[in-house]
Amino acid sequence: MSIKPFEKRIWLSSPTMHGEEQKYTDEAIKTNWVSTVGENINEVEKRIAAKIGRKFAAGLSCGTAALHMAVKLCGEKLYGRPAPGHGALEGKKVFCSDMTFAATVNPVVYEGGEPVFIDTEYETWNMNPAALSKAFELYPETRLVVLAHLYGTPAKIDGIVKICKEHGALLIEDAAESLGASYKGAQTGTFGDVSAISFNGNKIITGSSGGMLLTDLREDCEKVKKWSTQSREAAPWYQHEELGYNYRMSNIIAGVVRGQIPYLEEHIAQKKAIYERYKKGFSGLPLSMNPFDAEISEPNFWLSCAIIDKNALCRTETYALKTRYTKEKGKTCPAHILDALSAINAEGRPIWKPMHLQPIYSRAPFVAACGSGREITDACVEKSVFYDVGADIFKRGLCLPSDNKMTPEEQSVIIEAIKECF
Ligand SMILES: *Cc1c(COP(=O)(O)O)cnc(C)c1O
Repeated sequence: MSIKPFEKRIWLSSPTMHGEEQKYTDEAIKTNWVSTVGENINEVEKRIAAKIGRKFAAGLSCGTAALHMAVKLCGEKLYGRPAPGHGALEGKKVFCSDMTFAATVNPVVYEGGEPVFIDTEYETWNMNPAALSKAFELYPETRLVVLAHLYGTPAKIDGIVKICKEHGALLIEDAAESLGASYKGAQTGTFGDVSAISFNGNKIITGSSGGMLLTDLREDCEKVKKWSTQSREAAPWYQHEELGYNYRMSNIIAGVVRGQIPYLEEHIAQKKAIYERYKKGFSGLPLSMNPFDAEISEPNFWLSCAIIDKNALCRTETYALKTRYTKEKGKTCPAHILDALSAINAEGRPIWKPMHLQPIYSRAPFVAACGSGREITDACVEKSVFYDVGADIFKRGLCLPSDNKMTPEEQSVIIEAIKECF
């Protein structure tokens, strides 16, 4: 039986405007405050810092810029100011989340650092603390960790913070996807020495673009604001002692963010309802939702994802940037479900492809809980541990349409289409 396609496309996650955004952007235009200073910027910095529970925030052009500034800040704290033309992390290894968006990791490379990818665990789909421990055994000189909270689900933060402390390492938290999510009652973005969030168009609230760096140290925040406005010194003429960037948030973008802030909780509630409807709808199917530890964490449910049981996975081959699958009765695979979604005009997406599988990072070390490189095969086989959790979730998982404007009726149709894939 074929299901009638939606007339209006159901998106993975699209912006949801409420009207107040217009008020603040109009005000900025009417009063001529359309540059990178103004009331909207001051307000969103203040409110986001207060909401998350951090002392200082710097509004920036995007989450990637916030991560770049975070990485540069930590690099200089650890290794001093680099000579002109050199990165703050040159020749230094940095332990990074593996199953994440490339923007978590690229800023490490902007500063000349060498990412070492840390394998994922199955309980939250984030960095595995045991693998991080192993990485410190292998590369004990490392002093910086970049941790993402994938799809809005907090990682195993306690374990990771403890390991960082034991090794005197700084932690950067990439909370771009997890704004509003909490772990043991504290918001994600409060655990890193420095943290970053994003207001990209597909995030839980948006400015159309934009990002923010969070810290508890005034001097760090001031430094980032200076760097991100071309590192101008306080002189009447253009005076520069340091390399500068044009990374500051615009007051127009900040107006959109300002109008969105009151709706963060509403968006989270809508996303949570979507997650729960999928979970209920999939009961009895050999497929489960992206997991989290309900005892200690409250995700923001930014994206609902599913993972197909091993014994219900059909065969796939990837060739020249395409995936082909062989359909079998009772079995399906992500590419098949994505085709079925696409056929009814709904948008899904594969799981973020792990960084250690990306051609650009193919030479970077990858560390699993039982070892790294060639050593993995023997050590993991001996302990019967599966060592590439990220690759497994990538192979069996997918992101489902998670737009907060999707109605329960529309979602029922999507669930029906997925059931038909088995
Ligand atoms: C979106 C995202 C970023 C980048 O944010 P931008 O505002 O798009 O630059 C960084 N990390 C993760 C995990 C993201 O999902």
